[in-house]
Amino acid sequence: MSDLENQPDWLNFEREHVWHPYASMKNPMPVYPVKSASGVTLTFEDGREVIDGMASWWCAIHGYNVPELNSAVESQLSKMAHVMFGGLTHEPAAGLAEKLLSIAPAGMEHVFFSDSGSVSVEVAIKMALQYWQAQGKNERRRLLTIRSGYHGDTFGAMSVCDPDAGMHHLFTGMLAQQLFADAPTLASDDAWNESQAVSQMASIKSRIKTHHHELAAVILEPIVQGAGGMRFYAPEFLRQVRALCDEYELLLILDEIATGFGRTGTMFACEHAGIEPDIMCVGKALTGGYMTLAATLCSSKVSDGIHADFEDNKRSGVLMHGPTFMANPLACSVAIASIDLLLSSPWQQRVRSIEQQLEKELAPCREMAGVTDVRVKGAIGVVEMKEPVDVAAVQSQLVEQGVWLRPFGKLIYTMPPYVITAQQLSRVTSAMCEVVTSSSSHT
Ligand SMILES: *Cc1c(COP(=O)(O)O)cnc(C)c1O
Repeated sequence: MSDLENQPDWLNFEREHVWHPYASMKNPMPVYPVKSASGVTLTFEDGREVIDGMASWWCAIHGYNVPELNSAVESQLSKMAHVMFGGLTHEPAAGLAEKLLSIAPAGMEHVFFSDSGSVSVEVAIKMALQYWQAQGKNERRRLLTIRSGYHGDTFGAMSVCDPDAGMHHLFTGMLAQQLFADAPTLASDDAWNESQAVSQMASIKSRIKTHHHELAAVILEPIVQGAGGMRFYAPEFLRQVRALCDEYELLLILDEIATGFGRTGTMFACEHAGIEPDIMCVGKALTGGYMTLAATLCSSKVSDGIHADFEDNKRSGVLMHGPTFMANPLACSVAIASIDLLLSSPWQQRVRSIEQQLEKELAPCREMAGVTDVRVKGAIGVVEMKEPVDVAAVQSQLVEQGVWLRPFGKLIYTMPPYVITAQQLSRVTSAMCEVVTSSSSHT
C-alpha cells in the first residue's frame, strides 16, 4: 500500500488475526481498509476513493448508503432487530415472501429463508432429497450438474462445484459423489443448428439416460456460470435440460444467487430461456447488499411431495432445516425495500445501457496479445486472459486509477451497481483496458 502512515492502527492486528476469503493467515494478500461507501464510491481510510466495479460481489445493485434502504433498516430497527422464527413470525417475512413470489418465475409458491447463498443451496438439495425420500425412492439421492459451476462453499454446495477448479481435491472422500456433465460452450446468442444441439446436449443427455434412476435433481446456474469461470451459455441449453428433467422426472434446481434481480437483463436469468425451475435459490442482491439473506423457493409439487405420507415412509413430512437467524426482520425489511426500489427504477434500461457500453469499451481488449476472450452479458463484462493474473499487482494498479475490481484466475471482470453513470463506467473500463494492456506486454 502506498501510504502506510495514513493507515489505521487496527490494521496490523487485523492482518494477524482475521481471515479473509480464500486467504492465508501466514502470508495474507494486501487488503484495503474502507472507511465508508456511498453511491458507487468506496472511500479508503487514507482518503483515497475508488469506483466499485464489483458491486461487492454482485450484491450492491443500488450502490451504497441508499436513502430508501437506510430508512428501511432504521424503521425496522426501532421495532425489532430480530426474533426467532421457530413458533414466531412477523410482517417483514410475509411481505418479502409475497414480493419474491410475485416476481419469481411462475410455479414458485413457497419460500424458505436462510442466511447465505450456500445455505440456500443446502436447503435446495435437502428439498430434493426429502422429496424423493417421501416418494419412497431413497435411491434417488445424487445430483447432476455441469462443469465450471459454482454453488457455494458449504459441503453440499461444494460437491456440485466444478470438480477440477472447485475444492474437491482438498476434500477428497468427504464430498458427496455427484455426477458431472460437460458444460455448454460459450455462447452469446440463442441460435443452435441441428448438429450443435446434438453435440451440446450429448454429455448431459447420456448421463441422465444412464443415471436417472439414482438422480434426485439437476442443479445449474442459469445462463451465466459465475465464480466457476464467468461463462455465458445459450438459453437453448437450459430449455433442453428442462425438457430432459421433465422426461426423466428429475427436479430442476436453478441457482439464481448471482444472476437474480436483473443482472443479466431479465429479473431472473431463467427468463431468457422461458423456463421454470422446481426449486430456485436467491441471495446476493436480494437485500441490495445490505444484509446477509438468501431464500430457497419451490413449487407446490416439491412441497406437496415432501409432505406426502406414503405407506412405506412414516416420516412426518417436515423440511429438516431451521437456521437461528431465519428470516431476520432487518434483512427482510431491507430486501423488500431493495426489490421495491429495483421495480420502481428503469433497471432494464440501465442494464441494457451498461451492456452496450461494456461491449463498446471492452472491445479494444480483444486485440491485445494476452487476451483470449472478451464477453458481455447484461451488466457483466469479462476479459479472459491467457495467463492467470497477479491479483495483488493488478489490484494495486486499478486502485491507482481509482477503480475497485477483484480479478480471479485468468479473469478481469466487472459487474457494477446498476446506478453507475456512463462516466463512472468508462473509468472502470479504461482501467480494465489499461491493466490488460500492461499484463499483455509482460507475457
Ligand atoms: C455466491 C454464490 C453462492 C454462495 O453464496 P454465499 O452467500 O457466498 O454463501 C452460490 N451460488 C452462486 C451462483 C453464487 O454466485
